[in-house]
Amino acid sequence: MSDWSSSSSPSGPPSPLDLREIAPGIFWQEVPSATIPPYSATACYWVVGGGHAWLVDAGDDSPAAKAALLAAHEALHAPRLERVIVTHWHRDHSGGARGLQDRLGARVVAHPDDAHRVRLVLPDPPVFEGPETLPGQAPGGHTVTLVHAPGHTAGQINVWFSGLRLLLAGDNVLGRTTTVIVPPDGHLRTYQKTLARLIALSPRLIGPGHGEPLADGGDVLQWYAQHRADREAQVLAILAGGPHTLLELAEAVYAGEGPDTVAAGKLMLSAHLEALMEEGRVALRRTRDYELVVGE
Ligand SMILES: [Zn+2]
Repeated sequence: MSDWSSSSSPSGPPSPLDLREIAPGIFWQEVPSATIPPYSATACYWVVGGGHAWLVDAGDDSPAAKAALLAAHEALHAPRLERVIVTHWHRDHSGGARGLQDRLGARVVAHPDDAHRVRLVLPDPPVFEGPETLPGQAPGGHTVTLVHAPGHTAGQINVWFSGLRLLLAGDNVLGRTTTVIVPPDGHLRTYQKTLARLIALSPRLIGPGHGEPLADGGDVLQWYAQHRADREAQVLAILAGGPHTLLELAEAVYAGEGPDTVAAGKLMLSAHLEALMEEGRVALRRTRDYELVVGE
């Protein structure tokens, strides 16, 4: 494992290059990107070996993101970039792919459900190909599988290195917080099923979509699953005391937290309420109050 430190930006003030080897030939890089607070960077992953490379996620489409990625590419001795894998359509993961395709000739892989959405948010999307086009062996000789892991988005893909027990989890896992599921593209019950499938892989190391790699991967996934179950129990307990609006629920659940947490929490609670309404356990009144369905 090694660390690099150098100037990364060919224009503007130099910034330190944050590139860290987390497994043999696999490097985590924090790429500055416009993303959800409290993060200010997207975690991108270089898989390097024999003069070839793949990149998992490409930051946003800003000059700063592009400069950071090209600096890392140089620091890694300019391997031939064969593939960019886009875990999901959000701009902080997909935005930089087109630049790398143009500049380095990389083929860009995404799930068709999310490739379609990238075309809606980026003025200049890359040319995509499907997950089935990815070889089963990554640069460096690692066995690799793409796992369709929906819930945060419909077409989220995760990258699984079985020999290393390393999961690159996109935004299904974040380094310092839980993941926000925003309906309708995000779907809580689908996400919970995805978590169960990822737990069954029993990863040792997880590379999240934002933040630092997590050495206790399996435990983190278990905690995420438990946290969602606990949150839902909390929502049901509050509603057992009477109808509440979404804001009232958020204020009760996130009492004492800052406005960012309450805002993100409202989104997360709406995903729980959506799931409970689909199951007929909660109803939304005309007054915008949520209430338990009798018998619950
Ligand atoms: Zn993200």
